[in-house]
Amino acid sequence: MVSLAERLAGLRERITAACMAAGRAAAGVELLAVSKTFPASAVAEAREAGQRLFGESRQQEAAPKIAALPRDLEWHFIGGLQRNKVRKVLADFACIHSVDSLRLAEYLDRVAGEEGKRPKIYLEVNVAGEESKGGFTPAELLAAAEQLPGLAHVEILGLMSIPPEDDARRWFAATRELRDRLQAASGLSLPGLSMGMSGDFEQAIAEGSTIVRVGSALFGNRSYPV
Ligand SMILES: *Cc1c(COP(=O)(O)O)cnc(C)c1O
Repeated sequence: MVSLAERLAGLRERITAACMAAGRAAAGVELLAVSKTFPASAVAEAREAGQRLFGESRQQEAAPKIAALPRDLEWHFIGGLQRNKVRKVLADFACIHSVDSLRLAEYLDRVAGEEGKRPKIYLEVNVAGEESKGGFTPAELLAAAEQLPGLAHVEILGLMSIPPEDDARRWFAATRELRDRLQAASGLSLPGLSMGMSGDFEQAIAEGSTIVRVGSALFGNRSYPV
């Protein structure tokens, strides 16, 4: 059987190869290991193999895992975020990839200010305008360009998207172009693009992803959906 350490090494090689193919420095793409549905022991194994960034999509599932593991890990929240979970998420997570509305960004900013924190965030964009998915529409995002620089208690790194599986590359490119437009319209520096999962991270890297969120290609298939 292939060990988790071997899968992690293989994944890192594929990321590096995708960077080289795109003429990019391998250091420009981070690996977020998405550990949702997997136990703390799996995270500990990945940590032993050198992985430090982990992603979780449910606060209640993540809290006991985070508490059980050493403090040298960085946790990123990638799931739907309800207001009543914001304080707890801010306590445990350094970064939130799933900020899906201006209202949520403003609420996070307020609570982060109260808690004396300044989390990193990505704005999630529904780049293909899919009915079934949340996130800012491209128009909402550009309309928020004036308000976003006023949020002093969050560090907006850039955009996150989960495009349709067919033609993903085109939507990764569209996400990057939207980032460029938001950057110009807001005056913010937005270096980050959280794009790419197990099935499409190489295409995401080709279009400028700076952090790929990979679960099943590292930990195996999830026994229940999230
Ligand atoms: C589960 C999840 C991932 C990882 O998906 P895989 O296909 O297992 O790599 C990435 N991003 C988000 C937002 C997720 O919920």
